[in-house]
Amino acid sequence: MPKRLDLTGKRFGKLVATAPYAKTKKYGWKWLCQCDCGRQTIHRVDHLTSGHTRSCGCEKIKFGKTLVAQTLERRCCPHCGEVL
Ligand SMILES: [Zn+2]
Repeated sequence: MPKRLDLTGKRFGKLVATAPYAKTKKYGWKWLCQCDCGRQTIHRVDHLTSGHTRSCGCEKIKFGKTLVAQTLERRCCPHCGEVL
């Protein structure tokens, strides 16, 4: 069983990981993150560590599929639109 990464306090762009949020079978751990803009969002660990996710969605999105973030931000990754 893979060890859970401890990302507490680690910074990824504008995001700082604050606490583990939930574990999913498919994607592993998701973490609660605090963005510099003040919002709290939830992101997959692999997105954070790969550099795919670097803000809550307030930063200019560089990885395509840009328009999903605003209305679905609580349920989808703001960067790729993937359902969390
Ligand atoms: Zn933000």
